Amino acid sequence: MSARVPPRYHEAIDLDALCQEFPPAPEFFDTVWTLPEEALRARREAAFLKQMERAWQVPFYRRRWSAAGLQPGDIRSLDDLKLIPTFSVHDMRESLERDPFWPDYFGVNPATDEALPLVFQTSGGTTGLPRPMMFAPRDREVMNIVTGRRLFMQGVRPFDRLQVTLSLGLPNGGLLVREGIQKYTGAVPIMTGSGAQTPTRRQIELMRAWGVTHLIGFPAYLRHMALVARDELGLDPRGFGIKGLITHLGVEDRGTLEELWGADVYDTYGMNEFGSVAVDCAEKSGMHVFEDCFAVEVLGLPDEHGTRRLAAEGEDGSAIVTTFFKHVAPMIRFDTNDITSFAPGRCACGSTHRRITGIRGRADGMVKLRGVNVFPEAIGALVAADPRGNGEFLCVLERGERMVVRVEMSDGSVAADVFAADLAGRFKEALSVRLEVEVVPKGTLAPLTGLDTTSKIRRLIDRRAVQEA
Ligand SMILES: [Zn+2]
Repeated sequence: MSARVPPRYHEAIDLDALCQEFPPAPEFFDTVWTLPEEALRARREAAFLKQMERAWQVPFYRRRWSAAGLQPGDIRSLDDLKLIPTFSVHDMRESLERDPFWPDYFGVNPATDEALPLVFQTSGGTTGLPRPMMFAPRDREVMNIVTGRRLFMQGVRPFDRLQVTLSLGLPNGGLLVREGIQKYTGAVPIMTGSGAQTPTRRQIELMRAWGVTHLIGFPAYLRHMALVARDELGLDPRGFGIKGLITHLGVEDRGTLEELWGADVYDTYGMNEFGSVAVDCAEKSGMHVFEDCFAVEVLGLPDEHGTRRLAAEGEDGSAIVTTFFKHVAPMIRFDTNDITSFAPGRCACGSTHRRITGIRGRADGMVKLRGVNVFPEAIGALVAADPRGNGEFLCVLERGERMVVRVEMSDGSVAADVFAADLAGRFKEALSVRLEVEVVPKGTLAPLTGLDTTSKIRRLIDRRAVQEA
């Protein structure tokens, strides 16, 4: 039984061929990054068709596409992408109900297929079981090449020291970035993990003693670190010699973080299922999609008839991601639910790869309040912009279409009632909806948001279904 023979990693993958297909940094930037549109298009078409061939072998897609009346020959180019039905985590969960560990969106069958060196990681999983993903060497190596590219673009060079403050465990974030740093940057990953793994004061001590050059983590935690250094240890983080902060910025205020650390902040967008998709270049004018590895579409939110159409440049919608490189679980038109838009025009850096704007929120985290769409992320951006707060907040949705935003003050000298009134006015002005503001002491919200213990920080609690005692 060949399926029972343990595989050898180096025999399971042709790394030279893979690096031709998906060049790592620095050669990527001399080749694919600035390819004229037509040549880039040709490269993408070939990769897409190859991925479609693989996807037809995956039971999940065969089942769904056949039900939609599609045949393998129907999709002949990227222009036909729009004919393929999208899917979301809800469809993945349906598949997971049948098998929570080996869903049918994995195109490898342990009973019949040859053994492969596999990596298993999951989504954050705030409710129920997390969403599993399995990676073959090819899947993982392309994701690692992309990590190498993005860090190169954001100024990371050999022998730099990168402190990674992401959770190390089931979620992909921390472990994936370690593989990419190790294999494709020449820099050194320092895996301190989240605040639960290495307490914040210890993180700061190590950072200073070891001469860390870059920090990788979620923006709320990076801000928290800077404030602990400044307010509790009496140290100025701008003197720590940090060159760059690499983060998933979302709507967090870049300027505030840059000011706190005296360092450049770079935004990145990615997911457990396929790693980084799009990242800031040095221009910080929108995140370039790695278009040789992915197709990103922006699909508008449903109109009053429930119809969705592809959004034009500059128009908001949810990011739909298609991978070009995955073996175990290709992702074809995955509706991420993340709200973004295409940035207009060409970037000054000279790349031909399209850019998306920062992720403004989750379509499924959006709250409809008296007819207005409200994203907790947008509230966070307004909170972070006021220095009387420390950026920490929690939205509590109450019955009767009320939202109370609890906001931490930066210290005891803040006049809470004035701060609350000003912030409520700012919300009304920027979001066109009235929200109540409750100012609370520093540190009060951490047990509810999970700031110190998890990288999946909670910003919204829905209490509408809670019966008052
Ligand atoms: Zn650029």
